[in-house]
Amino acid sequence: MFRFRNLVEEHTDDLARAITLEHGKVLSDAAGEVARGLENIEFACGIAQHLKGSYNEAAATGVNVYTIRQPLGVVAAITPFNFPVMVPLSIAAGNTYILKPSERDPSAALLLGELFHEAGFPKGVLNVVQGDKVAVDRLLEHPTIQAISFVGSTPVAKHVYETGTRNGKRVQALAGAKNHMVVLPDADLDVAADAAVSAAFGSAGERCMAISVLVAVGDVADELIEAVSDRMGKLVIGDGTDAAAEMGPLVTEEHRNRVTNYITQGAADGASVVVDGRNQSFDGNGYFLAPTLIDHVTTDMSIYTDEIFGPVLSVVRTATYEEALQLIQDNRWGNGAAIFTRHGGAARAFQDEVEAGMVGINVPIPVPVGYHSFGGWNDSLFGDTSMYGPDGVRFFTRPKVVTSRWSSLAESSVDLGFPRND
Ligand code: NAD
Repeated sequence: MFRFRNLVEEHTDDLARAITLEHGKVLSDAAGEVARGLENIEFACGIAQHLKGSYNEAAATGVNVYTIRQPLGVVAAITPFNFPVMVPLSIAAGNTYILKPSERDPSAALLLGELFHEAGFPKGVLNVVQGDKVAVDRLLEHPTIQAISFVGSTPVAKHVYETGTRNGKRVQALAGAKNHMVVLPDADLDVAADAAVSAAFGSAGERCMAISVLVAVGDVADELIEAVSDRMGKLVIGDGTDAAAEMGPLVTEEHRNRVTNYITQGAADGASVVVDGRNQSFDGNGYFLAPTLIDHVTTDMSIYTDEIFGPVLSVVRTATYEEALQLIQDNRWGNGAAIFTRHGGAARAFQDEVEAGMVGINVPIPVPVGYHSFGGWNDSLFGDTSMYGPDGVRFFTRPKVVTSRWSSLAESSVDLGFPRND
C-alpha cells in the first residue's frame, strides 16, 4: 500500500490529465482530487490500527470475549463521472474489488489499476470493469459480490440500494445534492463572495459538494450579489489542460443542454438572471457554458427543486437565520451546508441544527479529510455508513465476536508435558 501511494503521487500529473481530458475539469482541480485520493491511501496504510479489534477479559470465569474484523470477500464500487479516482481502503481490509467507473470518463480508473499492479498487488485483487447500466445491473445481481459502494445521482442510487439490498448485499449509495451556503449579515463579504464563486463554479459546478444555492439573509443580498458578479466576470474559462483556466467545459453536450434548459425555465418562472452564461462562445474543444447567477429564486421553481450539477448559482433571499435554516431542513437532500458569519454562537447553532452530513463554517466545500468519513443525510445517502475513513472500514469488514474459555492450569487434567504447581 505504501508503494501504491508513492506510485500514485509520482503519477499525479498523468492521472489528473486522464481526468481532465474526459471530464473537462481543470488540471489543478483534477490534481486536487488525486491529492484527496492519496489521503485515502495513506489512511489505508494504517489499516492495522483501524482493524484492531476489542477485548474483554474475564467476562465469566475463564472466559474472554473479543471482536475481530474480517473482510467480506468480493466487493464492488460503482462511481460517477465526476469522481473517477476512488479509494483502496476495501483492499487493505482484505477484500477483492471490482471498480466500475463511469462510462463517461473511464481512463483514470484503468491507469489506477495499472499502478496498483505495478505496486505489487496480485492480479485479481483490483479489477476494473467498464460499462454502463448493463454492467451495473449485472453487478447488482451477481451472487459472489457481497457489498456495493455506489456514488452517483439520487434516482440511480435508490435503484442500486433497493436492488442490491433485495439481493442480500450490503449497500452504501451516496447520491445527489443541493448544497446551500447561508450568508449572515455580519459575514466578511469578500471572503463569502470568493468562497461562493469557487464553490459554485469550480469544476463547472459538477461536484456533489458544489454550492448551488446562496442564501442571503437580511440586507446582505445586494452587496453580496454585486461582489459575486464582479468575481464571475474575472473567471478564466477555457480548456482544462490550459494552466490559466479556472473553469473547464461540461462533461457532455446532452448535460450542457440540460443545464441551459434549467436557466431558461428559471427565467420563465420569474427569477432574474443577473449573469447569463448562455450563448457565450469559447475557443477550445468541449461543451462550454459560462457561469450563471440567478436572483429572486423561490422554492417552487425547478431551478431550486432539482439538482442541476452545472455552473449555475441561485440566490434565495430570506429575512432571518431561522428562515434560511428552514430552507435547508425542507430540502430533500442533505449532503453539505455552509454558513458564513463572524458570530460563534450562530455558527454553533447552525452546526447543531442543520440537516446535512457535512457542515462548513466559513468553509464553502466541507469535504472531510481522509481520516474522517464522507457522506450526506436524507436523499443524499442511502444506507447507514459513509464512505472512506472509519465508516469505510466498518462498511468493508464484518465483526466476528469470539467467546473463548480456557481452563486454568490448575484445573487441567491433561498431561501438559511440563511440571505444574498443584
Ligand atoms: P449517474 O447516477 O448517472 O452515474 C453513476 C454510476 O451509475 C455510473 O457508473 C453509471 O454508469 C451508473 N448508471 C447510470 N445510470 C444507471 C442506471 N439507470 N442503472 C444503473 N446504473 C446506472 O451519476 P453521474 O451523472 O455520473 O454523476 C453525477 C451525480 O453523482 C450527481 O447527482 C452528483 O451529486 C452525484 N455525486 C454524489 C456524490 C456524493 O458523495 N454524494 C459524489 C459525487 C457525485
